Amino acid sequence: MNLPQLPREPIRPELENPTDKEIWVPKWRCFCCRDTGLVGLNLVRLAIPNYDQCRDKPVACQNPRCYAGSDYRGDPNYDQRFTVGICTELDKRSREDWQRTAESHFKTIQNRVVDASRGVNLRKRDGREANRLRHRTSDEEIVANKRHELACSADPEKLEEADLSLDECEEKAYDEF
Ligand SMILES: [Zn+2]
Repeated sequence: MNLPQLPREPIRPELENPTDKEIWVPKWRCFCCRDTGLVGLNLVRLAIPNYDQCRDKPVACQNPRCYAGSDYRGDPNYDQRFTVGICTELDKRSREDWQRTAESHFKTIQNRVVDASRGVNLRKRDGREANRLRHRTSDEEIVANKRHELACSADPEKLEEADLSLDECEEKAYDEF
């Protein structure tokens, strides 16, 4: 029999999308078990370094403020060795970790916003520069056309009589624009 190939079904879908993850802040009340009632693997390993999730009992959360943990407390199928003190400490450490993660994500986002606005300013500046150059180019074209026009139409003798060099004529022509 061929088994169906199912996609993953994440416990926390909001954590799967990296964009959401950046601004996502945990909503669970117990940071020891994330409101599952069972202590998170990474936290379990802080107290049981060689914990094997396939062979060892899941660890019941003993955080006194955790309602989810009460489903597993006293049940011999679950590891009951974590004390209130251990779970309270794990809850505290996990909260601090999340605090740091949230702060670092916030800083990353802040930096991206600053970088993005710098980029916009640079583009604006480049745009203004390009406009200025375009303007100058069109001015230069006008002058060049006027030069050509003058050179073609001007009577050199008359210009000499008026004591005007061709360059001066061109300057006048440019000033008119
Ligand atoms: Zn808990």
